[in-house]
Amino acid sequence: MQNSKIIVLIAIFVLLGLAWRYLDQYRPRQMPVAPTVPLVEELLIADLSKNSQHPQTDSLEIQLKRINLLLNENKCLEAVPLLQKLLQKQVHPAFWVALGQCWVLENQGDSALHAFDQAQSLNPSLKLTSWIKKARQLQYEAQNMAHWESPHFSIQVEGQTAMIAEVDSLLLRLERSFDQLSLIWDFYPERKIYAVLYGKEQLLQGTLPDWTGALFDGKVRIPYEALVQHGAGIERILLHEVSHAFNHTLCTGNLPIWLDEGIAQIIDGTELNLTVLEEKLASYEDLQRSFVRQKDVREALRLYQTSLAMTRVLLDDYALGNWQEIRYILAEISKNNDFEQILMERWAISSADLYQQVQKQFSNGRF
Ligand SMILES: [Zn+2]
Repeated sequence: MQNSKIIVLIAIFVLLGLAWRYLDQYRPRQMPVAPTVPLVEELLIADLSKNSQHPQTDSLEIQLKRINLLLNENKCLEAVPLLQKLLQKQVHPAFWVALGQCWVLENQGDSALHAFDQAQSLNPSLKLTSWIKKARQLQYEAQNMAHWESPHFSIQVEGQTAMIAEVDSLLLRLERSFDQLSLIWDFYPERKIYAVLYGKEQLLQGTLPDWTGALFDGKVRIPYEALVQHGAGIERILLHEVSHAFNHTLCTGNLPIWLDEGIAQIIDGTELNLTVLEEKLASYEDLQRSFVRQKDVREALRLYQTSLAMTRVLLDDYALGNWQEIRYILAEISKNNDFEQILMERWAISSADLYQQVQKQFSNGRF
């Protein structure tokens, strides 16, 4: 019995090691791309219960399984006490990392930094740069910004009087977009959505191209200038960004960027821009990378428009206009993280096929 326990523990460490190596290539991209939950996958991969012959007797396995289930459903707040309990018995950098990531998702910069610090003290070669940067930003926002709550949003605002004057109407507008999205998806997220109202310099921090309006990186980030500049048009921008928040609640796995942006644009009412698409579509390869890297406004528009066209074909021709079909796809990605396989099983297509169909249908003058 003692021996079998030791073997199970060794197996856990080997699996975690493999998971680390595998996940290293998927390290979160540079800010402001959202580190959602992907790295907690190492615990999913370490879910030994399926293969274990001692699922009832090994409490470590059972704990891991329970944590995995919660993380998979994005229930970080419930996973945190279990991770903390686990760490009292079993110290491993992966558990500290998962805990830190949970704290990031829960907007707790201080606690996240502590957890990442612990992880790195156990394994100094761990690369957590993006997560630590994100946690520091959360810490800064918690220390330097005022904070308001509405039924579905928690918003932080820089302490300038002009911005604070906007908070009430901004929260109303955010709540309105929440209502619209809940109706579309027939889904009501349990957790509040975090939002920040920024001065633009603070938002940009030299990392974003000029064409971005607001953005979603785990929090809906709204530059004060966008509020002033767009007037009533800000509602569409907010709907777009809150739509990303819904997408990443419905999908806790690796949601393809083109689908994420395509859904948000269909929902915000963006129309196809024939002039841009007639020139050419964005390349299939470029659609797989973060769009904010594109500095050229026209090329950025091409990326968004191609994403819109692909998602349009997916929704209209395959999901037959039914958002619940798309919701099913998002939920499946959360389970097995293999979008191509899901697409193939559901509709017998690949995303490359979809891209080609858009190309073909577009040259036939469908749009
Ligand atoms: Zn977007």
